[in-house]
Order: sequence, then structure tokens, then C-alpha cells
Amino acid sequence: MDCIFCKIVAGEIPSKKIYEDELVYVFEDIAPTAPIHYLIIPKEHISSAAEITPENSTVISHIFEVIAKLAKELNIQDGFRIVNNCGESAGQTVFHLHFHLLAGRKLEWPAG
Ligand code: AMP
Ligand code: ZN
Repeated sequence: MDCIFCKIVAGEIPSKKIYEDELVYVFEDIAPTAPIHYLIIPKEHISSAAEITPENSTVISHIFEVIAKLAKELNIQDGFRIVNNCGESAGQTVFHLHFHLLAGRKLEWPAG
């Protein structure tokens, strides 16, 4: 499968790794929009949030546990944002499920 994030997990494309365990991989976004802009992805290929099912959803709760742990380590508990763009109309450009973790600046809301 020609998936850029699967290739990152496999080490075939370089990335700046922040965290890894058996289920998830966290790395720096190549085009950051905040001082902290990480991508949290399941190692298993799931194409978008619309493809989460009872069979593959264990990793989703794990992702949020990892985010909470990272937030403590990064000392950003005062304010961070988790973003998932699902589908082309919502701005999804890479079709391997990922959550953006944004922090380190004032984050406006609503976000355009
Ligand atoms: P989205 O638009 O929500 O699908 O987000 C895709 C994100 O992946 C964008 O913020 C890109 O900057 C980021 N991205 C694309 N290719 C890479 C890469 N090779 N390494 C790190 N981040 C990437
Ligand atoms: Zn993939």
C-alpha cells in the first residue's frame, strides 16, 4: 500500500520521532503550525476517523492516553488542541488516521 505514514512507521521515510510503543507512533509535523505540532498515529493502517470500528478502536483510547502522558511531560496542560481532519472537505490530506497535537501558542477558537 502506498501510504506515507505506513512508510514512516516502517522507517522507510525519515521522521522526527517523539514517542513510540507497540500501538502508536508520534512524530513532528513536517510543516508545523504551532511551536509544538506533533502527529499521533496508529501503527495499524486506518484510513480515517470514519473507518473506526469496534474491531480496531482499542488504539483510539490508547492514543488519548499517550496524548495525556505527553502533555504532562511537555508541561502543556494549560492548553493544547487535538485535531482530526476527516475527509477531503475537512482538509484531510494524508489518508492514514492521525491526530494533530498543537500547543505552545494561543490557539484561537473557532478554528476556521
Ligand atoms: P491532514 O491535512 O490533517 O491530513 O494532515 C496531514 C499532515 O501531515 C500535515 O500537517 C502535513 O504537514 C503532515 N505531513 C505530510 N507529510 C509528512 C511527513 N513526511 N512528515 C511529517 N509530517 C508530514
Ligand atoms: Zn497507512
